[in-house]
Amino acid sequence: MTAILDIQDVRKSYGAHQALKGVSLSVSEGEFIALVGPSGCGKTTLLKQIAGFEEPDQGRIAIAGADMAGVPAAKRPTSMVFQRLALFPHMTVAENVGFPLKLRKTQPGEIRKRVGQMIELMQLKTDYLTRFPRQLSGGEQQRVALARSMVSEPKLLLLDEPLSALDVKLKKVLQAELKRLHRSVGVTFVHVTHDLEEAMMLADRICVMRDGAILQLGTPADIYYRPAGSFVAGFIGETNLMPIKVTARDKSGLVYRSADIADIDGRIASDFVADGVGQGDALLMLRPELLRVLGPEEKAEGIIGAEVTEMFGKGGTVQYRARTRGGQNLVVEIPGTSSLPMRIGDKVRLGFAKKDIYVFGPGA
Ligand code: ATP
Repeated sequence: MTAILDIQDVRKSYGAHQALKGVSLSVSEGEFIALVGPSGCGKTTLLKQIAGFEEPDQGRIAIAGADMAGVPAAKRPTSMVFQRLALFPHMTVAENVGFPLKLRKTQPGEIRKRVGQMIELMQLKTDYLTRFPRQLSGGEQQRVALARSMVSEPKLLLLDEPLSALDVKLKKVLQAELKRLHRSVGVTFVHVTHDLEEAMMLADRICVMRDGAILQLGTPADIYYRPAGSFVAGFIGETNLMPIKVTARDKSGLVYRSADIADIDGRIASDFVADGVGQGDALLMLRPELLRVLGPEEKAEGIIGAEVTEMFGKGGTVQYRARTRGGQNLVVEIPGTSSLPMRIGDKVRLGFAKKDIYVFGPGA
């Protein structure tokens, strides 16, 4: 697939602070990329360099094969939607949506036609065209902002937390809208979000950043089940990280010991081990929903004994906290309809399948 966006070793500092420390990223045409990471990790800074609001200190950004160095924002085939609404309050919806085309001196008839198409695409009513932004709800305003960002047919749509100011219900509606929009227009989306569920739901690939650098880029399943290390694992959802000692390692996998895990053969096949794991300390990851409560005689490939310390109902599932003999705290999530419910104080055996684990090094 052709790369619509190619970022090579981009660096950006503000005074002594290095906001981007050599970021490289290639995005295919039509992809939906979610950029996630803790506050201040450089997500917005990266979008600004792509949009051309700022120039990187070093590195190269190419869009559709063209080097963007020195190309001003208005001349780039990009459009950016911000968290805080940037609609012009004194302009009607039609004027707001048509504004980018007016700047480009498009004929009024053509502007009217394209504005109409955008309003329809965003499923806004045509009688909204003559309203002012203040006469619309927050969600409707954000749809108008999206319509405006799409009207000039950008190759790349840059979304900086466009849904984060909305209430939960509206957010869900607009998440579904964004997905539909992405499918129907085939434009490439780079979407910054704090909401990991949103990233999982919308993105083809998720890019996890920390401290000005990319830690991992992968499909939602890769990021969730094959995280590059403990930071990504903990950032994307709740997880259990069991310390283990790797006593032997070869191409086929590894042999390990753990105070808390009774393993059927003490081996883990290489498919479930991250590159770079050698002998010594490592972490074995188990997602809470992949642990099950075993009946008295029931067997499993791996078994962890623990005592239940807390429980929280979550609607369809129940989340438990449990402590192993070795003092390790575990999170377990099981369906609320489970035939083996647990109570606080119960001593339980938690089972897992070898295909559900992943091992990575302690430093990552
Ligand atoms: P958030 O999730 O909170 O929006 P972010 O990942 O988008 O964070 P950025 O806005 O990219 O973070 O900021 C990265 C770092 O650079 C932060 O530490 C921020 O304080 C700093 N920074 C950003 N813009 C400037 C600026 N114009 N001048 C000085 N420092 C800046």
